[in-house]
Amino acid sequence: MNYQDFFENKLADLRDEGNYRVFADLERHQGAFPKATNRIDDVVREVTIWCSNDYLGMGQHPDVLAAMHEALDLSGAGAGGTRNISGTTHYHVLLEKELADLHGKQDALLFTSGYVSNWAALSTLASRLPDCLVLSDALNHSSMIEGIRHSRADCKVWRHNDVAHLEELLAAQPLDRPKLIAFESVYSMDGDIAPIAEICALAAKYNAMTYLDEVHAVGLYGPRGGGIAEREGLMDQITLIEGTLGKAFGVVGGYIAASAALCDFIRSFASGFIFTTALPPAVAAGATASIRHLKQSRVERDLQKLRVAEVREKLTEIGIPHVDNPSHIIPVMVGDPVKCKFISDMLLDEFGIYIQPINYPTVPKGTERLRITPSPVHTPEDVDRLVTALGDLWTRCQLARMPIAAQ
Ligand SMILES: *Cc1c(COP(=O)(O)O)cnc(C)c1O
Repeated sequence: MNYQDFFENKLADLRDEGNYRVFADLERHQGAFPKATNRIDDVVREVTIWCSNDYLGMGQHPDVLAAMHEALDLSGAGAGGTRNISGTTHYHVLLEKELADLHGKQDALLFTSGYVSNWAALSTLASRLPDCLVLSDALNHSSMIEGIRHSRADCKVWRHNDVAHLEELLAAQPLDRPKLIAFESVYSMDGDIAPIAEICALAAKYNAMTYLDEVHAVGLYGPRGGGIAEREGLMDQITLIEGTLGKAFGVVGGYIAASAALCDFIRSFASGFIFTTALPPAVAAGATASIRHLKQSRVERDLQKLRVAEVREKLTEIGIPHVDNPSHIIPVMVGDPVKCKFISDMLLDEFGIYIQPINYPTVPKGTERLRITPSPVHTPEDVDRLVTALGDLWTRCQLARMPIAAQ
């Protein structure tokens, strides 16, 4: 076999389908985010980022930066070991306390990313619980799917957010069989929200554990930024809450929050927790500062909601089709991978607006989209420029508009 030809051919297929991924080279400007410098070959230009998961601009918050500088100066660059072998710094201990408190749980456990936390926690739980059945929402994130797959446990997929289907699957099982219901609160591509209360009621009725990924909700929802489960008063009904420090908290890292016994169990058995270097102390310090700030400040959350509402309203005014959902994520549907990429390229080239096209396999074919994430650091002028640019490109690409709602 000619290995290089094999690689090239597979990549050529991706390009033909319009699904080849090109990364934007960005230099984010601290203090001026969402502004950044973008470089393509010799072209250098200033852009406004509209697709960041730094949802609240916490990546440049003065408290976060000060905490990181201080920890870096006091403790140096890296943790210097796995958590077990010299890598547990006081910053890690404080951060885990902060996270447990955020979710009203006895304990929390840090991982190097949200991906790793899902992968490690789900694979450990599902493989170690005897004869465990995992009930997984059809739209769960890849990190959850891979964790479940790696566990080799029996897995049944329930139709997205369909509690009737979930109940059907639960009812078919013996009551005493270990069961784990795995789902998310805010689904990141459609921006819809799971019926958490109903799922918890089913879990109680059928003796199942609940595993909730709140990655796109922590920092953003609930009076202290604890997520949708906090907002709805349901945190105590969830067995395990998983989250990230890399999105609304603006830093990097992942975690789970649960009972002391469950965290200790994962700490003791999860290879993805044990055999990897701990996060740098400065990262832990920055994340702690970010969580603390968002526990007592709702300014960022309120302003974000306002910007999201403005973008939606203005898109609707000019008939640009976007998914109406109850979250902060605005998917603008294009429905064609080549056009989606083209619009994204034109936005960058002509308007200095950066929105990465979202194509297969991140979303199903035919639902290609631009995923817009307004934040408190976007100005009303940024919003106007965005909507004007999209209107212009919609006309040029001859894309359909929504009928303007009758007044
Ligand atoms: C991004 C994401 C993760 C992974 O979190 P990282 O900290 O980026 O690794 C997990 N779950 C969902 C739903 C995500 O969107």
